[in-house]
Amino acid sequence: MKLPIYMDSHATTPCDPRVVEAMLPTFTQHFGNAASRNHSYGWEAEALVEKGREQIAALVNCSPKEIVFTSGATESDNLAIKGIAHMFADKGRHIITSVIEHKAVLDSCKRLEKEGFRVTWLPVGKDGLVKTSDVENAIEDDTILVTIMLANNEIGTLNPVGEIGHLCKAKGIFFHCDAVQGLAYEPVDVQEMGIDLLSISAHKMYGPKGIGALYVRRRNPRVRLDPIIDGGGHERGMRSGTLNVPGIVGLGKAAEIVLAERESDAARLRALRDHLRQRLTTELTDVTVNGSLEHRLPNNLNVSFAYVEGESMLMGIKDVAVSSGSACTSASLEPSYVLKALGVHDELAHSSIRFGLHRFTTREEVDYVADLMVRTVRRLREMSPLKEMADEGIDLKKVEWSKH
Ligand SMILES: *Cc1c(COP(=O)(O)O)cnc(C)c1O
Repeated sequence: MKLPIYMDSHATTPCDPRVVEAMLPTFTQHFGNAASRNHSYGWEAEALVEKGREQIAALVNCSPKEIVFTSGATESDNLAIKGIAHMFADKGRHIITSVIEHKAVLDSCKRLEKEGFRVTWLPVGKDGLVKTSDVENAIEDDTILVTIMLANNEIGTLNPVGEIGHLCKAKGIFFHCDAVQGLAYEPVDVQEMGIDLLSISAHKMYGPKGIGALYVRRRNPRVRLDPIIDGGGHERGMRSGTLNVPGIVGLGKAAEIVLAERESDAARLRALRDHLRQRLTTELTDVTVNGSLEHRLPNNLNVSFAYVEGESMLMGIKDVAVSSGSACTSASLEPSYVLKALGVHDELAHSSIRFGLHRFTTREEVDYVADLMVRTVRRLREMSPLKEMADEGIDLKKVEWSKH
């Protein structure tokens, strides 16, 4: 077994070697511009792009014509949300989303708020799930868009997007879904789930960074978007710019592998994840899993270890790449907004660790991580004054800490 061990797959995944192999000829051999109409280099590149489009369309059950390539899901989210808002501002100025969306969604909605749109920010329960009934109750006469993620990137919870999609269909409201975290493990069918726009990112599903896609429905109804990037009119005018042929080939191959191996990957990862959870919760006390275990990605585990601080744990497990609920929003010391939204107290949010297993995670690695976590948490707790106070029967939530 090689160190360090990577267990942060919600941040990014390694490229599958089969993806890299598919991409290689696009750099030196098939390097043409897919928009060049006058020679075989261009035609070849265009054929590769169209193959990639078909591979992604097959993954989400849509027509290849409904796929727009972007630089990643941040751009896809921006294009979907701002694109709909600006195109349909005359029809309505109200948008519904949830408080635990990815920043690309939250900040796009905030931008629209500044432009005069109204946004309803739906809360989530302790389980970390958006309720379909909450979406329904939030709908107003001028609601034009609902945007709810498939799977959360911190706690891995799976929203009832099929239900929400059907609700939106019935009400004639566009439904956008950020499906980035779920695609590699959960079946997604945009027809069956009533999805009008869907964000995809290659590097969260064993493809390369800097390439993504947006599914944009073309029938029942036809969705039109105001573009963000103007230029040569690529991608039916919705996203100009020379196509990233290597990226598209990589994304396509990644999608093809996911479609063939998703079920077995998910089953294997679920067993490994449950083994990790089992070991942590039986060998340590005061361990809580954040968010629903039932409605959850098979590769995600987000756990709070009471009385120890996330950053100290990360220092103690230097050979393991995971992330903590206190480090998520990069430089800030604020605990994760997702954990806060579940009602997790600041102390417990700061003591949380997110484990993200991936296609290449082994059982040996999981056991190494479990051993190391158990040893590290025990050691840190021995030195923790909080643990000592709790052992003496003091309720830490009721303690008045003096402020310096
Ligand atoms: C990573 C991520 C994004 C952003 O995707 P990029 O391709 O890195 O821009 C958006 N939404 C979710 C849920 C993510 O996990």
